[in-house]
Amino acid sequence: MNTAVPRTEDAGDIARARPADALGTSAAQARSAVLEELIRKDPGRFRVLTGDRPTGRLHLGHYFGTLHNRVRLQELGVELFVIIADYQVLTDRDVADNLLQHVEELVLDYLAIGVDPARSTIFTHGAVPALNQLMLPFLSLVSVSELNRNPTVKDEIAHSRQSAVSGLMFTYPVHQAADILFCKANLVPVGQDQLPHLELTRTIARRFNDRYGTGSTVFPQPDALLSSAPLLLGTDGTKMSKSRNNAITLAATADETARLVKGAKTDSERHISYDPVTRPEVSSLLLLAALCQGRSPEQVAAEIGSAGAAVLKKVVTESVNEYLAPVRARRAEYGRDRAHLRAVLSEGNERARAVADATLAEVRAAMNTCY
Ligand code: ATP
Ligand code: MG
Repeated sequence: MNTAVPRTEDAGDIARARPADALGTSAAQARSAVLEELIRKDPGRFRVLTGDRPTGRLHLGHYFGTLHNRVRLQELGVELFVIIADYQVLTDRDVADNLLQHVEELVLDYLAIGVDPARSTIFTHGAVPALNQLMLPFLSLVSVSELNRNPTVKDEIAHSRQSAVSGLMFTYPVHQAADILFCKANLVPVGQDQLPHLELTRTIARRFNDRYGTGSTVFPQPDALLSSAPLLLGTDGTKMSKSRNNAITLAATADETARLVKGAKTDSERHISYDPVTRPEVSSLLLLAALCQGRSPEQVAAEIGSAGAAVLKKVVTESVNEYLAPVRARRAEYGRDRAHLRAVLSEGNERARAVADATLAEVRAAMNTCY
């Protein structure tokens, strides 16, 4: 594996192309288009960190929001780190249920979609102590009011299973900065909900460099890479999410998929049209079918026309089932060898530990804490 840190000093054109209001989704989308061009020209300058909480099986929101991009980047020659965020399960619940099973299921999903452990590193928080140690200096670089205004955290608190907000819920975006910066990733393929966290990571990197860098750049300021489906809705019309009982998982059978899509929320208008602002549920279904078919949602909508929501759902079901058939077959195949899943993880953990140890040594030197 290439252990060299991706070049960050020649990212001048990235910085210059950055719009001032980088928090907004449309700005992030425009920025993603610029990034795509830079990746195409020189994939070796990028290192990707991205990941998921082990709270259940991955779903279509993950797939089209981030997973598809991860594998595409890997195939383009970008180095990929995938974190299974086990500590972050505890942000919105008291106990992390069935953790081992969920972790294995995630590894299975990654292998099934095409993450190649020979080229990419799959690892867990819990196994990389030096990554977690970065959290302390990073916490000192942000204010409580900055943490307080994070819109994604506010939404997650609203959906939390806990009556009180834990300190971990409040601070996990800082932990996420440690996830990204421990390996000096400069590119993070994510869904829309992650944009505020990415902005915080950029702030932490910048402040660390300013405070401790003495002229040198310790951390890059990573960019978010949004896909064309940065927010896929679930069957209830809110963000598709593992924890909200509204998801269509990659591992679902064709029949389960049909049943779930059939129960998806739509609206009362019979004519099917693509309008994400006024018709979010119908538009999300159209987008899903379109992504599976490799066409535009407007084309799919025009074809269905006045045939109504039942036909839309039939089209979605058939498109999803056809698209996922090879992924589901590979998933079943990999699932027969649990020992292999554990081996993939233990090798990934070892690689991540070496990278984290090196970064922590650098951080300690910068902070004058080498005794
Ligand atoms: P949980 O409910 O446990 O928080 P989740 O479904 O929100 O699970 P995460 O593990 O929090 O999934 O998110 C992993 C990655 O998938 C993030 O980059 C996130 O932006 C992306 N993602 C999750 N859900 C969607 C979605 N519905 N549409 C687009 N991207 C998504
Ligand atoms: Mg989430």
